[in-house]
Amino acid sequence: MPENSASAADRLHAVLTTLRASMADQISTAPSVREEHSHGEAMTAARLPEAVIFAESTQDVSAVLSACHAHRVPVVAFGAGTSIEGHVVPPEHAISLDLSRMTDILAVNAEDLDCRVQAGLTRQSLNAQIRDTGLFFPVDPGGEATLGGMCATRASGTAAVRYGTMKENVLGLTVVLATGEIIRTGGRVRKSSTGYDLTSLFIGSEGTLGVITEVQLRLHGRPETLSAAVCQFENLHDAVQTVMEIIQCGIPVNRVELMDPVQMQASIQFSKLEGYRALTTLFFEFAGAPAAVQEQVSATEALAEANNGLGFAWAESAEDRSRLWKARHDAFWAVKALAPQARVISTDCIVPISRLGTLIDGVYQDIKASGLRAPLLGHVGDGNFHTLIITEDTPEGHAQAWELDKKIVARALALEGSCSGEHGVGMGKLDFLETEQGAGTLSVMRALKNTMDPHHILNPGKLLPAGPAYTG
Ligand SMILES: Cc1cc2nc3c(=O)[nH]c(=O)nc-3n(C[C@H](O)[C@H](O)[C@H](O)COP(=O)(O)OP(=O)(O)OC[C@H]3O[C@@H](n4cnc5c(N)ncnc54)[C@H](O)[C@@H]3O)c2cc1C
Repeated sequence: MPENSASAADRLHAVLTTLRASMADQISTAPSVREEHSHGEAMTAARLPEAVIFAESTQDVSAVLSACHAHRVPVVAFGAGTSIEGHVVPPEHAISLDLSRMTDILAVNAEDLDCRVQAGLTRQSLNAQIRDTGLFFPVDPGGEATLGGMCATRASGTAAVRYGTMKENVLGLTVVLATGEIIRTGGRVRKSSTGYDLTSLFIGSEGTLGVITEVQLRLHGRPETLSAAVCQFENLHDAVQTVMEIIQCGIPVNRVELMDPVQMQASIQFSKLEGYRALTTLFFEFAGAPAAVQEQVSATEALAEANNGLGFAWAESAEDRSRLWKARHDAFWAVKALAPQARVISTDCIVPISRLGTLIDGVYQDIKASGLRAPLLGHVGDGNFHTLIITEDTPEGHAQAWELDKKIVARALALEGSCSGEHGVGMGKLDFLETEQGAGTLSVMRALKNTMDPHHILNPGKLLPAGPAYTG
């Protein structure tokens, strides 16, 4: 095939020549635009794409993939670039396909509690636009992420303990396959028993099997009452014990988030939180009818008190509540602000809830032995937390941080956990995949990749470690 024998530069040139005929004003090779698309957040790796193409429709995405498939040019879907495992770092001679101009809300079916949106819309923008329906979309990763990117990383956030992750909140998709073919998966119904669940296959596929252009989402009614409180503890173990008991007792908290003293100190400074001490802290939110909320609050307070909690401080007004949750969402930036020249590498382990205390105790030992600063925070109601490892931005510093990361992951896997509860694999977690998933499962994943993307043009080098049947 001529495309195979041509040089990578010639193949790229052929793609851009084809696409310029119809999309010239959507293609940029400006250095600043390429730089913006050369990396996500947090990971150290970066590489410039040769060009950035801004899709404005499903047909645009189809045209781009069809040309890239024909000429064997790698293409990396780009939402908002907030992913933190090197997901959007392009390989050599690649195109970055930016979906952020695809922001339309295509349908809102308030009576069925669902909507259909283009993949480049952010969850914040969706919620602002549907506010007057009384409905909202609950999945809330900290970054200003796109809904397509959130599907692609199977994202979650602080509300997953109550509403689930993207997996539970996406009903269907429009996806452009590697060849440029457009398919629809799923639909509007709450359940379906017809064939392979391709919607779930694309959720978490990190742009390696297709590019998502539309998403059918479940919406939820805004709760009648919302109430938020903070409870501090002298001892981290007591806070974790409280959370484990809350979940084991089935108290339907809306959110429960933990910050350790180092993280709390950073957030007090960064978010100007007044009235709190740099102690282990649980952030709670309760939602529902007033009587139900009261019941949840009483049960939670009793458990916290029995575990030496220092009492509940209530965020009474909507303004106080949003200040509190903004501080939680800004936790990563609070840590970055502690050491602006340093790198921050986030772990993302998750374990069955009964093992959370054991894991956190072990992680604290590892952090102490490493000599590094690594604030700990997370979505503990799901058994998921992050250690934000602060390290010098040097090869030695990175190596030291990765060493700590590996120890933490090994502990989680030994407790039947996972190396990533929500951030995904990207490049950062590739080394752990075989241990976690097993060789047999990986070979099925590779077979799927080879079938759906035979030339490995879709985000090569991510999600699947190189192996016998995979050369991407
Ligand atoms: C401060 C901060 C806090 C965060 N907190 C959380 C959190 O609480 N929970 C959580 O889950 N994550 C969190 N994240 C990570 C990040 O926000 C999520 O991974 C998010 O889902 C990425 O969305 P994005 O639009 O930025 O995607 P991008 O970073 O642009 O892309 C991510 C991956 O998806 C692929 N992709 C993007 N769009 C598409 C598409 N339309 N079709 C197919 N593939 C696509 C890309 O190729 C890439 O592999 C946080 C990040 C930051 C910086």
